[in-house]
Amino acid sequence: MKKNKISLKEIVSHAKQYGFVFPSSEIYDGINAIYDYGQYGIYLKNNIKEYWWKSMIQINKNIIGLETSILMHPKIWKASGHVYKFKEIFLSNEDTKKSYRLDLLIENYFKKNNYFKKNKDLKKNIIKYIDKKLKINEKEKILKIINKMKILNPKNKERTKWTKIYEYNLMFKIPLKEHDDVNKKFYLRPETAQGIFTNFLNVLNSSKIQIPFGIAQIGKVFRKEIIARQFIFRMREFEQMEMQFFIHPKQEDKWLEYWKKKRLRWHLSLGLGEKKYRVYEHEQLAHYANKAYDIQFKYPFGFKELEGVHSRTNFDLKNHEKYSKKKIRVFDKENKKSYIPYIIETSVGLDRIFLAVFSSCLKKETIKKERIILKIHPALAPIKAAIFPLIRDKRLMAYAKDIYKKLKIYFILTYEEKDSIGKRYRRQDAIGTPICVTIDFKTLKDKCVTLRFRDKMLQKRVLIKDLKREIKKETSMNKLLKLLI
Ligand code: ATP
Repeated sequence: MKKNKISLKEIVSHAKQYGFVFPSSEIYDGINAIYDYGQYGIYLKNNIKEYWWKSMIQINKNIIGLETSILMHPKIWKASGHVYKFKEIFLSNEDTKKSYRLDLLIENYFKKNNYFKKNKDLKKNIIKYIDKKLKINEKEKILKIINKMKILNPKNKERTKWTKIYEYNLMFKIPLKEHDDVNKKFYLRPETAQGIFTNFLNVLNSSKIQIPFGIAQIGKVFRKEIIARQFIFRMREFEQMEMQFFIHPKQEDKWLEYWKKKRLRWHLSLGLGEKKYRVYEHEQLAHYANKAYDIQFKYPFGFKELEGVHSRTNFDLKNHEKYSKKKIRVFDKENKKSYIPYIIETSVGLDRIFLAVFSSCLKKETIKKERIILKIHPALAPIKAAIFPLIRDKRLMAYAKDIYKKLKIYFILTYEEKDSIGKRYRRQDAIGTPICVTIDFKTLKDKCVTLRFRDKMLQKRVLIKDLKREIKKETSMNKLLKLLI
């Protein structure tokens, strides 16, 4: 079997052609970095969500779920530090006048420079120096050191003079009422976490849950990303799946390691291959973090952040105490003292998992003929089984429709009768349907149907009465959940 590589361009085009991802507002020429999910994309997205949700809430008795609002009290964003610190620093250069994110430029520079692999201390000192200058707003000094480092222009890989450095808050500011001016400073949330922190007391008071425990949430967030490229990897409106785990401060290291391993195992369970993942410990930390790991994934454009596992310490709860003037504490029975819990956060972009799954499972194979196949885990597949009459014969069609009608309450199915059976198989391969069920003339006599499995194209005949069990066995999400316990 010949396997051919698929480029990012082909991935984007397949996503559109087969109803997974569409550019938003396309009939008006689209908007940069905003996308819509199509008829199959929404199933795949929902299946990823369901798997994450179950893996957090259903199999962990000390994790509960919430859904909090997108709009929140403006003071929350002051307390969380986002108003002053949720900024990106950009550099632009003389040659192209294009802007580049400072942190990414530096990260790439160190990655490509073998000298720093041996001189790790020098690398650390440079990062520390830049961080310090950022904190005290000495931007010119940063420009100077960047020019000294001779960081190349990413566009043409040539030497350049970096001439401008500026910062940019990533939050969308909106007026809440018709005639409000923007100075009222409501924001679209840039992370779901703050809704969890501000409900910490509500959860504690309305349940019997005790530390250590977690609160999980899935929801839309918004960021004014200026450098928005690479398809759905970096969007301005996207979905996060976050879990905030509240712990005693002394257990910070233990739980950070625990969640790093646990989340990596979750990603590995999707079957995309161990080599596609790596864990990177942060040298530059977000304003709220003490220690942080990125789980990175090998996208078609290289290893990039998929999920963050951070120790947020008591930074957020402490500041919410200060700004809200409400005590946000728990009582430590051993020491007879109350304390503000520490938080270990796992934060992953749903759209980034979607892209990881979609881009690495889309394959081009040639066995006699070429076929494009989306080899995703059957539990994530948009359509679980396709029901086909072999040809457009009235008796076969009636039989197939009857099977579809009986099984559609258990699974997401499709019924198709147009085109040749070969063409119908190819279409289902391209959207990742794990099983095709064909009803032929023999079925009328022996009450058996032919199952054709997507990956190996193997066929087997089963009794109609066993069909439900067969589809369930192949596509059940429990198969995935079992890998986690
Ligand atoms: P990056 O360095 O790529 O900008 P980040 O460190 O700012 O990411 P976090 O603030 O830690 O990201 O957000 C948690 C997760 O949300 C990320 O690991 C990623 O999966 C996802 N995410 C962040 N920004 C975007 C975006 N613009 N589009 C899609 N997903 C995103």
